[in-house]
Amino acid sequence: RRKLVEVRDLKMHFPILGGILRRQVGAVKAVDGISFDIFEGETLGVVGESGCGKSTAGRAVLRLYEATAGSIRIDGEDIATLPAEVLRKKRPAMQMVFQDPQASLNPRMTVAGIIGEPLDEHTNWDRKKKLARIYELMDAVGLNRDFANRYPHAFSGGQRQRIGIARALALNPRFIVCDEPIAALDVSIQAQVVNLLEELQDQFGLTYMFISHDLSMVRHIADRVAVMYLGKIVELAPVSRLYDYPLHPYTEALLSAVPEPDPSLERRKDRIVLKGDVPSPANPPKGCNFCTRCPKVMDICHQLDPETVEAVPGHFVACHLVSHPQTAGRTGGAEAE
Ligand code: SF4
Ligand code: MG
Repeated sequence: RRKLVEVRDLKMHFPILGGILRRQVGAVKAVDGISFDIFEGETLGVVGESGCGKSTAGRAVLRLYEATAGSIRIDGEDIATLPAEVLRKKRPAMQMVFQDPQASLNPRMTVAGIIGEPLDEHTNWDRKKKLARIYELMDAVGLNRDFANRYPHAFSGGQRQRIGIARALALNPRFIVCDEPIAALDVSIQAQVVNLLEELQDQFGLTYMFISHDLSMVRHIADRVAVMYLGKIVELAPVSRLYDYPLHPYTEALLSAVPEPDPSLERRKDRIVLKGDVPSPANPPKGCNFCTRCPKVMDICHQLDPETVEAVPGHFVACHLVSHPQTAGRTGGAEAE
């Protein structure tokens, strides 16, 4: 398969200023050195609790934020270093669907105006050609053409998200970051919007980075999944591997809280309740970021940040249980031999 997106050691640190001189006294390490690929036509799910850095990562990948460090190759070109005017020409190919369609749609613009806005910015089409494209997009997302001259407030949450998706599609993008696209919607219409995203992916050959805290939904839509905790990717694997054979203790805990859709299947795991809170990304713990809450923590975890290793082909994990199994297996005095 062809790689469309290649992210290496991406960091997004926000400075903390202090004192009367407003000097930088620290940094919030919202994203702290993440690497991943996204293959053409696939969906990479990115999961984790709120504050883990997944939304920031999505914005940094599209360069809506200027990354602190790292490279972001899209179709072979590092967009992290492109000058603004060159980046602007690349914008059409990479788009974002936002969590809150209410907040991301201009209330004073009609549906046609909102969907046509990217066409105004990036093409010099005449009115007729633009309107034809707007109708085409409304058809694609299942919006009645009669709605073209209405304003966003006249629509339900699900319809507003369809407007946002139509706008994201206007310039024929190849890559779309979907940031919690269904989190603000009624449960009853979440599946409709997810199904629409999947249909559009097939129809237009789209590649998605799908950010969500909903592990059931991600299992349904993603091909591979990255699990984030405190600014880092702790595990990344094909969806069936990750859900059936999680290797990282944090992934295990997250999955243990996912309700089983089929109640006849006896749970083979108990709910793992993590102690304490997620530490502040301004002051992550020494060693493994998860060491303050990990049910399987070992001595080495407080000393050394675990490297990411490929445990089996395509299954990446950052945990000493996997990278230093000899340490994990060793119990008091066994090394005396
Ligand atoms: Fe837990 Fe240690 Fe693995 Fe971190 S490295 S997840 S603390 S066992
Ligand atoms: Mg978020």
